[in-house]
Amino acid sequence: MGGFCEADGCLLPEHAAGLCQGHFRRRSRGRPVSGRLREVLSPWGRVLEAAIALADVSSEDDQAHRRAEDNLRTAITAYARKDPVPAPAEPVPEQV
Ligand SMILES: [Zn+2]
Repeated sequence: MGGFCEADGCLLPEHAAGLCQGHFRRRSRGRPVSGRLREVLSPWGRVLEAAIALADVSSEDDQAHRRAEDNLRTAITAYARKDPVPAPAEPVPEQV
């Protein structure tokens, strides 16, 4: 209660049963809960997520570090251009 979604890598606030709205809805449809709901993140949310991922990556893993850096660059570029988030794969949950 009052925590965050338990789905792997999800940074959204808990909605019910330890899951955010999107992951909760996913599970209630019988779909796998694993995997982030990238489509619900705003451009700035994606920048934050990529920045956190970059900070978390091991500095000894060059490949993972480069990939995280690329993700951050992509997110920042999209944010700077104010690109719309790509079309969602499933309906976007209402934001509270
Ligand atoms: Zn979630």
